[in-house]
Amino acid sequence: MTSPVWRPFFQHAVEPDPPVIVRAEGAYLHTSDGRALLDAISSWWVTTHGHRHPRIMAAIREATESLDQMIFATVTHEPAERLARELVAIAPAGLAHVFYSDSGSTAVEVALKMALGAFANRGEKRTTIVALEGAYHGDTIGTMSVGERGVFNAAYEPLLFDVARLPFPALGREQATLDRLEQIARAGGVAALIVEPLVLGAGGMRMYPPSVLTELGRIAREAGALVIADEVMTGWGRTGSLFACEQAGLSPDILCTSKGLTGGAVPLAATLATAEIFEAHLSTDRSKTFFHSSSYTANPIACAAAVANLEVWRDEPVRARIAALGAAQSKRIARFEGDPRFANPRVCGTIAAVDLVAPDTGYLAEIGLTLRSFFLDRGLLVRPLGEALYLMPPYCVTETELDRLYDAFEEAAGLMGDPR
Ligand SMILES: *Cc1c(COP(=O)(O)O)cnc(C)c1O
Repeated sequence: MTSPVWRPFFQHAVEPDPPVIVRAEGAYLHTSDGRALLDAISSWWVTTHGHRHPRIMAAIREATESLDQMIFATVTHEPAERLARELVAIAPAGLAHVFYSDSGSTAVEVALKMALGAFANRGEKRTTIVALEGAYHGDTIGTMSVGERGVFNAAYEPLLFDVARLPFPALGREQATLDRLEQIARAGGVAALIVEPLVLGAGGMRMYPPSVLTELGRIAREAGALVIADEVMTGWGRTGSLFACEQAGLSPDILCTSKGLTGGAVPLAATLATAEIFEAHLSTDRSKTFFHSSSYTANPIACAAAVANLEVWRDEPVRARIAALGAAQSKRIARFEGDPRFANPRVCGTIAAVDLVAPDTGYLAEIGLTLRSFFLDRGLLVRPLGEALYLMPPYCVTETELDRLYDAFEEAAGLMGDPR
């Protein structure tokens, strides 16, 4: 308890001191006491190809030879210009402009401001944001507002703004979600629908099919609302395609990306928008300017890392690795099918999850810490979300490493006692 560091999502009163990492490489984090931890959650979903991909590290080194942070409201640089061109070329059709920030939360804040700003600048009274139950969009005030309410944000409730909420499109209940959106849309005033496409990450790796996403997009559009795709987690191959929206044939009006944008090496985020949204802010009237910036906007070193990430996607068989990882996860998660200790085994692209069945529900909150140290003792970095055990490994993970993880899941169920 001598460290002055205040850790994120960490209860200092009960959690043990974290391991000290001295080296990161591929799928592993190496500790100061000589252990290797298999990073099965990609360090909270950022690491895509593996830790310290040589090409991305080299690009960072090279960028530091000539560039550091500079004021992006006044000057520009090649890494940001090139990255923007390349992002527009690979993003879903229609996204023509790239606004840089530095985290997933800021990318979403920017998206919400762009949506509201576009309508305000056009003199159209649309201010309602529609979001899914169970959503997670970040930890700032605005992103908590559009996210699920609960113990994580109860204290800040007085500062959070109201949004219209759609029930999660659970299997067999998809129509209720679509009907609710129709109803909200009919009431009028909807500025935007914000969604995590295909997978609600922090909400427990809850998955819904592309066809539902297609319909949500269609209904929102027909009502004249914008569609914001928060691809902060789902982007960069996690769901099997570069962006999850592709699987639904959805071209959102605004797309947020961060986490895997630099392959997980350094912080960077981008909010992509259509020409229409950009043009709504285009005016000789300066009051219509998009008033947003952060000090480290378009950091050249981070942009260079992201350009190198795009080269990795172009030059290495990343798509084949993702397909193989998806198949390997599907094959393995099937072992929990029909096992009473587990419920709802599911896979979307490279992400696999299964829910532990506990004797009583309150028990799960209690056992979170136990589960984490159980995995850590076995050299596995796994961090369950409530009852959901999930794996979101970097794409360099091997089949043998996956076997270790699945065997540990099986063993973890033994901690739960008899579900019957
Ligand atoms: C992680 C995440 C965010 C927030 O990103 P930060 O970089 O942690 O601010 C936003 N949306 C989704 C879907 C996320 O998974």
